[in-house]
Amino acid sequence: MCRHAAWLGAPRPLTSLLDDPGHGLLRQSYAPRHQRCGAVNADGFGIGWYDPHHREPVRYRRSVPIWTDANLPALAGAARSGCLIAAVRSATPGMPLEESATAPFTEGRWLLSHNGRVSRDAVRPLAGDREPESACDSAWLAAAVFARLGAGSPLCDAVAAVVVPAGLDDPGARLNLLVTDGDAVVATAWHETLFVHLGEGVLLASEPVDDRPGWEPVPDRHLVLATPDGVRVQPL
Ligand code: GLN
Repeated sequence: MCRHAAWLGAPRPLTSLLDDPGHGLLRQSYAPRHQRCGAVNADGFGIGWYDPHHREPVRYRRSVPIWTDANLPALAGAARSGCLIAAVRSATPGMPLEESATAPFTEGRWLLSHNGRVSRDAVRPLAGDREPESACDSAWLAAAVFARLGAGSPLCDAVAAVVVPAGLDDPGARLNLLVTDGDAVVATAWHETLFVHLGEGVLLASEPVDDRPGWEPVPDRHLVLATPDGVRVQPL
């Protein structure tokens, strides 16, 4: 399954999630340590961040292995923000291999990444009349969450209102989401690994991006809300 990570804290470049740390997403794309399915994440990658001069986030994604993009290191070094998100993809069998199936998905102020898989039949009813941008299960999840956020639901409520019913409907679902509006990050652990690290800010990641002490596993079927005030963990 894919790997993803987010940062909330003082502004940093995106390289802080990708290749600065010893086990960043670049390394996790070919040598993940905690991945339950798949050995490489070579079906695409994406990054998202917030620029103070724009209301909407900046999102860059491609459907090639992250290590093949020669333009990424300079871009990721210049992309600085207090809220960062990045993902490397290992496509679930049967899902399309295309840029529009690659996280992070975005709408308005929001960015969303999915680590896992889910039956699309379990998500379709949650998306209302929304059409996802790709037939990929993750795009359906994004459409369902964005529909709730667009209707005014707070971040935690919108995420829980999709993850819980989809997970109950499909017992084989793995529904680790990272969703942000630039001010707060919500992450779920639902049958995939999720770790949190609290220091000068908050790091949330499928697996630790470095070997520093302080990484804590998030219990399964729990939601983490990270804000500038700290972290709250609650059962789903
Ligand atoms: N199911 C999603 C996809 O195919 C996410 C894959 C993953 O987590 N490996 O893109």
